[in-house]
Parts: sequence; structure tokens; C-alpha cells
Amino acid sequence: MAAEGFIGEHFLKKGTTDSGAKANAESIDARSLLVKRRRRSATIGRSIMEYQVVVLGGGPAGLSAAIYAARSGFSTVILEKMLPGGQIANASRVENYPGFVDGVSGMELGQSMHRQAEKEGAETVITEVTGIELADRGADSIFHTVKTTDQDVRGLAVIIATGSRYRLLNVPGEIELTGKGVSYCATCDGPFFRGKKVLVVGGGDTAIADALELSKFANEVTVVHRRDELRASRALQGNVLRTPKIQFMWNSVVESIYGDPAVSSVRLRNTKNDIISELAVDGVFVAVGSVPSTGFLGDSVPVDEFGCVITNVQLETDVAGVFAAGDVRHDSARQAITAAGDGATAALSARRYISSL
Ligand code: NAP
Repeated sequence: MAAEGFIGEHFLKKGTTDSGAKANAESIDARSLLVKRRRRSATIGRSIMEYQVVVLGGGPAGLSAAIYAARSGFSTVILEKMLPGGQIANASRVENYPGFVDGVSGMELGQSMHRQAEKEGAETVITEVTGIELADRGADSIFHTVKTTDQDVRGLAVIIATGSRYRLLNVPGEIELTGKGVSYCATCDGPFFRGKKVLVVGGGDTAIADALELSKFANEVTVVHRRDELRASRALQGNVLRTPKIQFMWNSVVESIYGDPAVSSVRLRNTKNDIISELAVDGVFVAVGSVPSTGFLGDSVPVDEFGCVITNVQLETDVAGVFAAGDVRHDSARQAITAAGDGATAALSARRYISSL
């Protein structure tokens, strides 16, 4: 099979410290050893980059995948929309990531992972992924092409680690008042609510961790939950019950958020008796879970009914050379540590796949 690409211009990253991995990478069929370089396509006028491993997303899953791929001697790029670190960077304190006896700030954890990936030789491109064109093996193409807002990035292996984004309440006023009192990140915006009255919506770990974080700044924190039982872990529940500033409104949902130019009140409905009430607040922190960031996949890779990518235990999707890791995949435990483990597994599977080409 005559593969497309830069045949004959073999490339092995310098600085790989794992000599076994390097030897393994060197043994890979010459056709798969690509020169990573940028070129301009004469036909479509878009810049094209080529790597052996293309990692979509720079959270714990993507960064861990990049560390493992780069250490295997593969040219590796991380495509990230925002700052590398992912959602963990929003956590003020992470206390359940092994190795940090006294906890670590999410920002510090994310930045360390990113520095480690770059030290191993992975590159980072800040751009938004908009689609994937799968390799056409019938037409002798072994490259998948990742479309981004800036360029096309071709890779032998693609690891989808795009995580998830905040779920919206989808109530009137939410979008209009985002950034004007409506927030999805207590760690980022908490200090703006010093001495104020805030509402947290949700009953999971995020909502309770957010309520605890906000109690450092706000005078009053009210958690509104649609049921009368929290989903959050026992440990977090214990902490919140010991914090007098935090109170609960059970069996309640937010129906509207009001305010001009900034949030001033919310309309609430009791789900048991349908009684409507209005509560004056300065801020609304929405913490009702997340949805996987997989819209760009179209029908290229199978997803479940929630949009999460379906994989086997090796984190291979149905498509050869495409893998998924972290919150974006079906059945993820949605923890930073499991995401990091996923990244390593996906990169090792990608290594096996590239070796087989
Ligand atoms: P989550 O566990 O899915 O919880 C979402 C919460 O929002 C649930 O209480 C849910 O209610 C509620 N909810 C969902 N849709 C709603 C709607 N439309 N209106 C009102 N309420 C709604 O999400 P999460 O809290 O973001 O946590 C995600 C994952 O990250 C979890 O696995 C969690 O353990 C992990 N996490 C861990 C930490 C930590 O410190 N270790 C911190 C944050 C997150 P129901 O309960 O009725 O479904």
C-alpha cells in the first residue's frame, strides 16, 4: 500500500528519555514515521499540520495521553480551545488526586500536567476543533484529518479527550445574565460576591463544593435542589452541613432569573406543591452537571444517547486509529484521576495501533 504523506522523511522526536519506547517507535513501519511540519495546501488554501498522534482536548485525559504519546517517541500535538488544564483548573482545591497529601489547586495541577507534556515534546495549539474526516483506507489514506477553525491537522491516531461543558438550566434570563451574576464557576467568580447573597443550583459534588467555596465570600449561600436528597459525596455533605452560612431549598427549581443590568432575583417553583416564590439574590451559580463536548464528531464516531463516545476497555472506538479518554467517553467515572488513567490507556492503544500500520 502506498501511503500518502511524507514518505522517506522519517522523524523521531529528540529528547525522548524512554529508550525502550524510542526503540519501539523506531521499529515502526517507515510509512508511519511522519515528518511533523506545516505546509500550505495549494488546493484549499488552509494550513495543514501533520503529527503521528493528535490529541483533542487539554484536560487531564488529553494531557496524560500527550505525555504517554510523546514519551513513546511520537510527534504529538494537543489541540485545546481554551487554556490547557481542562475543568480541573476551575477547582480551588483538589483533595483526591493521589500524591498530594494536603491537596493541590486545580490550576496548579492542570498547569503541571501541561508543562510535563511539553517537556516530553508534545506541542500545544490553541484552536477549536470543528470536525473529523476519517482516513479512507480504501483510498490508501492512513491519516485522519481533524478540522479546526484555523487549520487541518492530520494524524495517524486521534485521541478524543474533549471532556464536557457545563449543562445549562435553560431558563429565561440565564444566557442574558451570564457574566452579570450568572456563573458556572465558583472558583473563578466567587470573589466578586463578597458580602452578597448567592444561589447555587444543583445537588451533586460540584454544587456542594461550589457552595463551600462561595461561603468564603458571600454572606448567604442558598443551595436549590430539585429533590430532597443530595447526590454529592458524604464527605462533602458533612462539610456543608457544618457551614452555617449555607442553607437549602429542597424540591425546588429555578424557573427564571431576573435583573437589569445584573441579577437581582430568581423565580422558584416547589416541585411538590407547585408553589411559586421569588427570592432576591445577587448571583446564581449553576452546577447541574455537564454534557460531553462531542458535537463536532457528527456521525464519524459512534456515541451513546447522551453523546458520550463509545469505546472498549482499550479505549478504542469503532474506528481504527480513533480513541477516546476521560469525561467524553461512555461510562467515565468523571474524576481527574480516572481521566488521567484513561489518557495513558488511550495513548498506549494508539501506540499499538501505529505500530501495526
Ligand atoms: P452531577 O453529579 O451530574 O450532578 C448534577 C446535579 O445537578 C444533580 O444533583 C442533578 O439532580 C442536578 N441537575 C441536573 N440537571 C438539572 C436541572 N435541569 N435542574 C436542576 N438540577 C439539575 O454533576 P457534578 O456535580 O458536576 O459532578 C460531575 C462529576 O464530577 C461527578 O462524578 C462528581 O463526583 C465529580 N466531581 C468531583 C469533585 C470532587 O471534589 N471530588 C468535585 C466536583 C465534581 P439529581 O441529583 O436530581 O439528578
